[in-house]
Amino acid sequence: QKREWAKLVNEPTVSTDGHKVELAANIGTPNDLEGVKNNGAEAVGLYRTEFLYMGRDELPTEEEQFTAYKKVVADMDGKPVVIRTLDIGGDKELPYLDLPEEMNPFLGFRAIRLCLEMDDMFRVQLRALLRASAFGNLKIMFPMIATLTEFREAKAILEEEKQKLVKDGVDVSDKIEVGIMVEIPSTAVMAKQFAKEVDFFSIGTNDLIQYTFAADRMNERVSYLYQPYSPAILNLVKIIIDASHAEGKWTGMCGEMAGDSIAIPLLLGLGLDEFSMSATSVLPARSQISKLSQSEAAEVAEKALTLQTAEEVQELVESTFMK
Ligand code: PEP
Ligand code: MG
Repeated sequence: QKREWAKLVNEPTVSTDGHKVELAANIGTPNDLEGVKNNGAEAVGLYRTEFLYMGRDELPTEEEQFTAYKKVVADMDGKPVVIRTLDIGGDKELPYLDLPEEMNPFLGFRAIRLCLEMDDMFRVQLRALLRASAFGNLKIMFPMIATLTEFREAKAILEEEKQKLVKDGVDVSDKIEVGIMVEIPSTAVMAKQFAKEVDFFSIGTNDLIQYTFAADRMNERVSYLYQPYSPAILNLVKIIIDASHAEGKWTGMCGEMAGDSIAIPLLLGLGLDEFSMSATSVLPARSQISKLSQSEAAEVAEKALTLQTAEEVQELVESTFMK
């Protein structure tokens, strides 16, 4: 099996009936790039920038951030790199920000909510990203967007910083796509409206599942409610993908579900454009997709949307594709 996977390192990801998708990798630091290349990922689908901010006593400077972002963008040599702005809070803390303790950190002051309020800090990151954009194919993604107003505010701040840099004669790409994580149910439900304004969606299933089932993703006692195959989740995923395609935009997925072998046929069938996962999952996923027919997967996904439980969905996928 390993040998079969190795042959796929430089191959595109194509189903038996010629449907192409992009397999990308999730990274946390520029050091992860070696794994991205060795495992044949076609893009970086999620660069979690919070690690730049963690394990230290003060905020990283614009220069430090620029160096890290530029390295990733340049090393990927024109391939897409989706960099997510700071997603702190929830399970990830920054002690030096001195934020008050919260009753429900996963429902609290985190990610884009914090960045919009502490916009001095946000602007530093955006400037570093904009400067790095001149060195490759950078896409910017905002996490935990719950309303269109939040997206518009974040985008407006980005535009302001871009204008300032351009005015100062700094090189900034004029082709930067700006997208959002869809990981809050309100945003999934409103995908049609969002699709008119964003350049792309990336579905964050780790949080989307937690918020859809109202079950803390870190709490073992409610882990039975972490149900990626549930028709509840699949129907949300369908709403998001269909909304993006109707506007000529694309949808990726960067939660764990994207690399899950039961979920992959369903996501392929629903028309997901980009699958972003840990680098080591890329070749197994490419091998799996290269043996699937997209039109058959679409029929199975259509059926899955109408089933009652996650168990029924899993059984349907296994009996169809894994005999
Ligand atoms: C997600 O929520 O699915 C996601 C990719 O983001 P994180 O796991 O960093 O919250
Ligand atoms: Mg998330």
